[in-house]
Amino acid sequence: MLLQNFYPQSKLVTKTTLVEKPRFPAFDAHNHLGEDFGGGWDKRPLPELLDLLDQAGIVRYVDLDGGWGEGMLNAHLDHFKNPAPERFLIFGGVDWSQWPEKGDAFHEWAAGRLRDQKEQGAEGLKIWKGLGLHIKDHTRKLVDVDDSRLDPIWQTAGELGLPVMIHVADPVAFFDPIDETNERWEELGNHPDWAFTSPPFPPFLHIVEGLASLVARHPSTVFIGAHVGCYAENLAWVGELLDRCPNFYVDISARIGELGRQPYTARRFFLRYADRILFGSDMGPYPEAYRVIYHFLETDDEYFNYNAASIPMQGRWHVHGLYLPDDVLEKVYFRNAERILLKHG
Ligand SMILES: [Zn+2]
Repeated sequence: MLLQNFYPQSKLVTKTTLVEKPRFPAFDAHNHLGEDFGGGWDKRPLPELLDLLDQAGIVRYVDLDGGWGEGMLNAHLDHFKNPAPERFLIFGGVDWSQWPEKGDAFHEWAAGRLRDQKEQGAEGLKIWKGLGLHIKDHTRKLVDVDDSRLDPIWQTAGELGLPVMIHVADPVAFFDPIDETNERWEELGNHPDWAFTSPPFPPFLHIVEGLASLVARHPSTVFIGAHVGCYAENLAWVGELLDRCPNFYVDISARIGELGRQPYTARRFFLRYADRILFGSDMGPYPEAYRVIYHFLETDDEYFNYNAASIPMQGRWHVHGLYLPDDVLEKVYFRNAERILLKHG
């Protein structure tokens, strides 16, 4: 038998709880509706989408797929936000491809675009993982996450009250050689383009330390570190940045596999930073994906799959529930997102 065909079924006899809806109405602060990551709902009927969200107990949904040009943002505003303003927030972005053409004027131009996007209806800014890995300036030099030339962008986001959802670098194992010691070997085998083996890519820590210095340098801009602050494998590192920077928040999207294999540390993290953690799925608007997260946050069930798929995508381990208390659940499911995403500008 090949190792890839080995999928042992646990013989533990322990309880399994089905949690169909969250204990409190939930605000999904990290998700997608576009073609690549969100199921292409911009071309599907809105009532079907609202029906899925109702089934899953999701009352508000951040769609990070507003893009950076006029076209995409307006298409998402027209399709989701305008017909159902209470249900959706659409985030815009930065068009890095304009840097070569705009040269030294790029950052001021990009800051100006944020003003336009806010006027059109964008309610936040999504920074994709290319920053620190691929984005180059007009001299073809790789741009650091905390490059001071970008300060006008972060400053303007703060002035406009646009929270910045930022994802850099993570996961750590994508920076390691793809060999028999790599814990994400199977996933990297399926997606070789997800590997950022260093060198030639910058080291993981260089990129996340850039995020830390960026967040510290812009205290009046709200930053949400995607996927547990871009370093779910090291909650002490994330906690230290949360301690240092009151403008920093994290979402838990797509990292139940990380949080749930360090249940004692993760539970302490949730209790201590209950005011700074946002619920999110990143798996599209599907009830079965949401249920895994509810199961993890709410129950003390032991040793279950963290994916709706039969083979867990990020590694073949299982997770343990956190049985969080109601006051923490209410903040994580809704109150924190309500405070920082709705009460702005
Ligand atoms: Zn995402």
